[in-house]
Amino acid sequence: MDKQGNTKEFQTWASSCQSLSAFGVIDAVLKRFSAGRVAFASSLGAEDQVITHLLQPYYARVSVFTIDTGRLPQETYDLIQRTSEAYGLRYEVLLPDQSELVPLMAEHGMDLFRKSVELRKACCHARKVAPLKKKLATLNGWICGLRRSQAITRTEVQAVEWDEHNALVKVNPLVDWSEADIWAYIKKNNVPYNALHDKGYPSIGCSPCARAVKPGEDVRAGRWWWESPEHKECGLHGRAKKG
Ligand code: SF4
Repeated sequence: MDKQGNTKEFQTWASSCQSLSAFGVIDAVLKRFSAGRVAFASSLGAEDQVITHLLQPYYARVSVFTIDTGRLPQETYDLIQRTSEAYGLRYEVLLPDQSELVPLMAEHGMDLFRKSVELRKACCHARKVAPLKKKLATLNGWICGLRRSQAITRTEVQAVEWDEHNALVKVNPLVDWSEADIWAYIKKNNVPYNALHDKGYPSIGCSPCARAVKPGEDVRAGRWWWESPEHKECGLHGRAKKG
């Protein structure tokens, strides 16, 4: 089955995926869609490195893309290189559209994200959301590393769900995994990971918008730390409001 919408049949199938393991979810999704119609969006975070490892048997059927915002830490570029070499993987690297970014920076400056939540979201839109949306428009489904326990904005995430925002299927194979599960898997399977994780960064993203957290702090406390928790999404994972 290929292009499809949020039908009753899809909802029944998506519900049946909820009880599967992470690998089972990936397998079920890639069997349902034609090769090349589902892609994995990797931010190179710890969860995404687990998925990169899980996807190994499917590299011929699924492409892996990442967004180079232009503000990533060097450690993330190093990890792209190390992961490519470890898995023989060629990332598709998406770049921001300069026609959106240049006027924004000209008006508000390079570090506009410090000035207001609105300008921070405008920066995230130009550097991340717009390139992502362009890519998603070519797909029937995308795989990501969201977990429910990552943030208060992610408590309703399902293993397989209809992404109303982008009109395609969204696959979150690690939805039920804990932070400890992620790191146990990484260590057991020798999965490459970002060197910043060992320096107190549980969640990384762009260099100027992430910092190390103290022991016991929320895993996303270091992202846009100057904002309140309910604002802490970049727009990549927008969810339709209920009701
Ligand atoms: S995380 Fe910061 S630098 Fe990166 S796109 Fe968002 S606001 Fe801009």
